[in-house]
Amino acid sequence: MDSMTTHVYKSGTGRTEFARVLIEMDAKKGKDSIELQYIDCMQQVRGTKIVKVEYDWKPKVCSYCHVFGHDFE
Ligand SMILES: [Zn+2]
Repeated sequence: MDSMTTHVYKSGTGRTEFARVLIEMDAKKGKDSIELQYIDCMQQVRGTKIVKVEYDWKPKVCSYCHVFGHDFE
């Protein structure tokens, strides 16, 4: 999480329009949404929520040779 998102999460105060987080995913399976799981102190999943994902930046990837750094055109 970025510092603002972390502050809101840890303090329980303030509001943000969005959360900025770093997540790891399969580069060939970019997603437009992800499922968040709410986990309690016993590590039990207490709920889930689908959230929309927006990307600040996506690398170019070639649809022909599947290499990052250039596109097919
Ligand atoms: Zn290529």
